[in-house]
Amino acid sequence: MKAMVYTEYGPPDVVLELQEVEKPTPKENEVLVQVCAASVNYCDWSFVRGKPFIVRPAYQGLFKPKNTILGADIAGRVEAVGANVTQFQPGDEVFGEIGSCGLGGFAEYVAVPEDALALKPANLTFEGAAAVSGETIERSYKRSNDGCFACPVRCSRQIRVDDPRYADLAMEGPEYEPLAGFTARVGVTDLPLALHAVDRCNRLGLDAITTSEVIAWSMELTQCGLLSRDEAHGLDLRFGAGESVLALIEAIATREGLGDLLAGGVRAAAERLGRGAEIAMHVKGLELFQADVRAMKGYALGNAVSSRGADHLRSEPWFEFSGDETTARSRFGDAAASHRLAWKGKGRLVACFEEMAAVCDALGMCKNLYNNMGVLDWDETAEILSAVVGGRWSGEDVQQVGERIVNLERELNRTWGIDRRDDTLPARFLREPAGPADSPSSGSIVELAQMLDEYYQARGWDRDTGLPTREKLQALGLEVSD
Ligand code: SF4
Repeated sequence: MKAMVYTEYGPPDVVLELQEVEKPTPKENEVLVQVCAASVNYCDWSFVRGKPFIVRPAYQGLFKPKNTILGADIAGRVEAVGANVTQFQPGDEVFGEIGSCGLGGFAEYVAVPEDALALKPANLTFEGAAAVSGETIERSYKRSNDGCFACPVRCSRQIRVDDPRYADLAMEGPEYEPLAGFTARVGVTDLPLALHAVDRCNRLGLDAITTSEVIAWSMELTQCGLLSRDEAHGLDLRFGAGESVLALIEAIATREGLGDLLAGGVRAAAERLGRGAEIAMHVKGLELFQADVRAMKGYALGNAVSSRGADHLRSEPWFEFSGDETTARSRFGDAAASHRLAWKGKGRLVACFEEMAAVCDALGMCKNLYNNMGVLDWDETAEILSAVVGGRWSGEDVQQVGERIVNLERELNRTWGIDRRDDTLPARFLREPAGPADSPSSGSIVELAQMLDEYYQARGWDRDTGLPTREKLQALGLEVSD
């Protein structure tokens, strides 16, 4: 096979050579990928020149490069699999970041561990899959880590995009949701353009999840023949039309042209247009985050019951990815609560995580630390609370604060006529089985009715209306008025 090889550091046009090399044979846990596309990122640029000097001892060898074939971001087709590979088979289209397993993407074939790969969505090109990734941002655009005062995690970052189209673009982030929203969701594979879109949303005060979803909705409407070019005010609304995405962000902010229709979000836009409600991805009028909840049932339930609509931060039940059946059984009544594709046990799981999220918000803490990393349990929270504000808090007291908040929000929703009928999801999550075929989540749909029953029971609410009972409110010390 052919590969771009280098054996000494230097300018790429001098040291890189197209050579005939031996085709790799996959080991037991490896997949042999026929590379269809590979992106050149900052790591490749540094490694080929051996600059800054630190990359030599740190990654590639002091005097000569250790890995002589570069290429960390790849997309391609599975050619063969090792004996122990379970997730892929020949013919699968995949993509992945292989920087941590020896590079090698600038070649016709590369053998990599299966856990470095993921199935490529069918509607994404090989070039797009290879170009857009967190690793590309890390290697090509990140300038430094950043974070809140005194936090050792420093989960944020400062990036800089040197692209003449977006002069001196410097910004914090992006977070996962905005990035996925302005790449995968709208079919854009131009990473600098997507980063610019996120930055424009931030500067204009637009929520990036809602903005990217409402633009994606208009693109799907166009694809289905439900939105004409005239109605789009002349914009090219095919998926992937990056310049139209940028134009729509500005139009939404100023409520001009199609932006005026989209500015109210997908539910309002579908009602006003009289079309597209069946493909509008929202709950209670708020757009969903960038995940297919058919493959994560706890998140599906959390989005459905969230008081203000599809807000994944109202619960974040990450425990369903843990596989910890022992804890699942003791805390949530069913081992299945620890598995993302199972629906059982998710009622108690989501109720618990909602209370954590409510307490976290009430304390003004960071959800990353409190919910996602679980740095404090109820008893530890009570100890800190007692030390800071006085009194003698117990873990049960703290948990009950969270429960009261969730119940109060439900009561507020009751006054606006919101009940079980509104605790739902877009119909396609309930009826269209997830794909692609042979993927671990293939065929999954959300068993929402069963999960709602379990959730209301866990909450002590009325199963038919999804509203708190008088007894529950009284038990929580909440005043009940008729
Ligand atoms: S983990 Fe939370 S507190 Fe720490 S830097 Fe990130 S957002 Fe800030």
